[in-house]
Amino acid sequence: MEALILLSFNIKLKNCIFAENLIKYTMNTNRTFTMIKPDAVANGHIGSILNDITSAGFKIIALKYTKLTAETAGEFYAVHKARPFYADLVNFMSSGPIVAAILEKDNAIEVFRALIGATNPAEAAEGTIRQKYAESIAANAVHGSDSDENAAIEGDFFFTATERF
Ligand code: GDP
Repeated sequence: MEALILLSFNIKLKNCIFAENLIKYTMNTNRTFTMIKPDAVANGHIGSILNDITSAGFKIIALKYTKLTAETAGEFYAVHKARPFYADLVNFMSSGPIVAAILEKDNAIEVFRALIGATNPAEAAEGTIRQKYAESIAANAVHGSDSDENAAIEGDFFFTATERF
C-alpha cells in the first residue's frame, strides 16, 4: 500500500516537473521586446541602434515606427505608477515617435539587457547602447524587457499575430 502511494506521488511529481518545463519552453524564453525611445529617434540614432541590435545577433520578429499618446504610454508603464518619476516618464515617452520591436535570440532578456547597459547612462558599460546614445536616466535611448512574462505582455501591446515574422 505504502509503495503504491509512493509510486503515485512520484508520478505526480514527474508530471509536475514536465508541465513546468513545458510552460517554460512555450513561454518563448528566446524573445524580448524593445523600444527606441523619443530621444534616440529625435537624435537620429534609429539606424545605428538597429545595427547594434542585429550585429549582436538578434533577429527582428516585428518592427513598428509609431507614437504613444499620454494614455497609451501611461498604460504601458502602469507598473511604475507608484514611482515618483511616473508623470515625467509618461510625458517623455509620448513626446515623439518611437520604434517598437520584438527580438529573438537565445537567452534574449539577459543578453539584450547587457547590450543596452544600465538604466542610468552615466553608469552604463562602455560600448552599450545607452552609454553610446542616451542623454540621461530619463531619456535613456532604449527600453528592454526585464522578464519573459513582461516581454510577452509588451510585445502584445504593440503587435498583432499577423505583424510577426
Ligand atoms: P529599465 O528597466 O532599465 O528601463 O529601468 P526601470 O524599469 O527602473 O525604469 C523604467 C524607465 O523609467 C527607465 O528606462 C527610464 O526611462 C525611466 N526612469 C528610471 N529612473 C528614472 C528617474 O529617476 N527619473 C526619471 N525621470 N525617469 C526614470
